[in-house]
Amino acid sequence: MARPATASIDLAAFKHNYALAKSLAPHSQAIAIIKADGYGHGAIQLAQALDDQADAFGVACIEEAIELREAGIQRPILLLEGFFETSELPLIAHYQLWTAVHNQQQIDAIAQQPESSRFQVWLKLDTGMHRLGFSPQEYSAAFSQLSSLPQVAQIVHMTHFACADELDQPKTHQQLRLSEEVLSTLPASASFANSAATLAHSRAHLDYIRPGIMLYGSDPLSQANSASQALIPVMSLHSKIIAIRQVQAGETIGYGERFHATKAMRIGTVAMGYADGYPRHAKDGTPIMVDGVRTALVGRVSMDMLMVDLTDIPEAQIGSTVELWGKHLLAAEVARYCDTIAYTLFTGITRRVRKEYQDESHNF
Ligand SMILES: *Cc1c(COP(=O)(O)O)cnc(C)c1O
Repeated sequence: MARPATASIDLAAFKHNYALAKSLAPHSQAIAIIKADGYGHGAIQLAQALDDQADAFGVACIEEAIELREAGIQRPILLLEGFFETSELPLIAHYQLWTAVHNQQQIDAIAQQPESSRFQVWLKLDTGMHRLGFSPQEYSAAFSQLSSLPQVAQIVHMTHFACADELDQPKTHQQLRLSEEVLSTLPASASFANSAATLAHSRAHLDYIRPGIMLYGSDPLSQANSASQALIPVMSLHSKIIAIRQVQAGETIGYGERFHATKAMRIGTVAMGYADGYPRHAKDGTPIMVDGVRTALVGRVSMDMLMVDLTDIPEAQIGSTVELWGKHLLAAEVARYCDTIAYTLFTGITRRVRKEYQDESHNF
């Protein structure tokens, strides 16, 4: 017997979503973004599943890249935040990683490496996200300096959108226009598009797209489009009912008496809590599937358990299957009841949740 809290990871769906990203941008290479342990899905397993298909992988930092290299991953790997200390540069060379460069200190550090080094640099332009990168005024000097260094083999232009998921926002068009203006005189490959821009802004596809969340089957767009509707959820978080009781009108459920029963109810207890990564701030009414029927969370989520309304599901019993999110209940919908986004639900899954990998092809 094992605690039933499980995240099932559908590798065939992951490959389907990658192929979808490629088909939307047929003239671009696609960097599969698997930072933060593959958005909580397990970066090594995802990379192994895609290693013969992916053009490249993207991670946040060298620790994540080395983990992939040591697991035998051969494809190019991009460090999206670049390096944090000069001491990483010999490792970047040794493991043949591509690195973002977003400030002058990084350029100076590269200039001090042995002249035989050959770095692939992704130079970051800040077009309005205001998080990383050179300003439009500083950018061409940074580009020229890097171009003149013997240690730099290739430069790719990179920028990142702040609002590509909000389809009626003018910001993406402003960022695109500014990028085109700054880069028009600096010939090099370019990479602008995250998932939302891959799905909705084909003008931003260029040489390399950088899809993340869409590979996990979650639609980042404010309004789904026909492409995003073809995404297939990769993670299914499930567990089981471990106890059932009847409560009367006037009784309360769980810590702090947050939920008050106004009628007689049948309540199920599920082996899933905030220490598994299910958000404690989920509201009463957050959807949960029991035996394929949609019902709702009642009361505060505890560390190891949560309670669910079984009043209208008389066939539910101890041992009934509970889906917290997955193919029948999208993580993005659950996230709305928790004042967050699917990204935090996926990356919040903890070590205690057993991961199961499946790779059966679907009839899509
Ligand atoms: C995380 C990240 C991405 C992927 O973003 P999604 O919204 O998950 O598609 C792309 N580019 C950069 C620079 C990132 O940090």
